[in-house]
Amino acid sequence: MSLTVAALDIGGTAIKAGIIRGGKLIRQEEIPTDAKKGGEAVMRKAEEILSSMGEFDRIGISTAGQVDSLGGFMRFANDNIPGYTGMQVRQRMEDKFSVPVAVENDVNSAALGEAHFGAGKGEKDFLCLTYGTGIGGGIIANGRLYTGSSFSAGEVGHIVTHPGGLPCTCGGCGCYECYGSVTALVREAVKVDPALSDGRAIFKEIHRPEVQALVDAWADEIVWGLVTLTHTLNPSMIILGGGIMQQESLVRLLEKKLYDRIMPSYRHVKLKAAELGNTAGLFGAAALALEKDHLGPIEA
Ligand SMILES: [Zn+2]
Repeated sequence: MSLTVAALDIGGTAIKAGIIRGGKLIRQEEIPTDAKKGGEAVMRKAEEILSSMGEFDRIGISTAGQVDSLGGFMRFANDNIPGYTGMQVRQRMEDKFSVPVAVENDVNSAALGEAHFGAGKGEKDFLCLTYGTGIGGGIIANGRLYTGSSFSAGEVGHIVTHPGGLPCTCGGCGCYECYGSVTALVREAVKVDPALSDGRAIFKEIHRPEVQALVDAWADEIVWGLVTLTHTLNPSMIILGGGIMQQESLVRLLEKKLYDRIMPSYRHVKLKAAELGNTAGLFGAAALALEKDHLGPIEA
C-alpha cells in the first residue's frame, strides 16, 4: 500500500500544499506566504494548511532558504522571511502532527522531484538546473541528492565563467548567472529592442536575425557553464528547468553546442526540459519524506 504524503513548498510569495499518493498529486492548494510577517507567522500558516489536508502518513517540506536537512532546521534565510533563520521546522511539525517530517531547500527539492517523478526518472547521475532570475542547481549522484559538506552544493550560478566580469549578487564577479540567466538575456535584448523585455517576447520575435543572434550568444554563455559541469560530474542527463526551457528548439541548440565543446567520451549526456513545472518542489519534498534515512528520530 502506498503512503500518503502531505507536501509543502514554502516560497517567498506563496505556500503551495499538496497530497501525493502513488506518485500522483491528488490535491493541491495555495495560499500567500505573507513572508514579511516573519518566520513564526509562516510556520503557523503552514500548520494551518496542513491541518486542512486530511489524513496523511508523512510530511515533506520544500522551503526557500538554506536548510540543514539532517537536523531539519533553517541554517539561514534572508530578510525576505524575517526571523526564519534557526527555525526548527521538522521538530515543530513532528510535534504537531506526529508523523515523520523531511525538510529540504527548494532548489534541491525540485531536483529530487524531477529525479523521482519527472524528467530524471530512471537516471542515477544527473543535474537539474533552473534558469530564471539566477541559475540554481541540484546534483543527483548515484540516485541521491548531493548536498556537500554543509548543505550548500549545487550553487552553479556562481561558477566563474568571466573572470573580472560583471558584479554578482554573491559579492563576486563574472559569475555564470550574470551571463547565462534569463535576466542576462533580457538585459542584452532590451539594448537591441526595448520591447524584448522578457523571455516570451524574445522567443516570439526569434524569426528576426538580430534576435536569433542574441539567443545564440546567450546559448553560448549557458554552454560554458554546462561544459564545466559535464566534465566535472559526468552526468547522463542535464535537466533544464525554467519556463524558457520549454522551447524545444533552445534545448536542441544547447545540446548541439555542448557536444561541440566537450570531450567525445562525455557526449552521451542528454539535455532535457524539466517536466513538473512549479510542482517539482512538492514532488521532491514528498520523495524525501518517503526516503527513510532522511528522517529524524521517529524513524531511528
Ligand atoms: Zn555570483
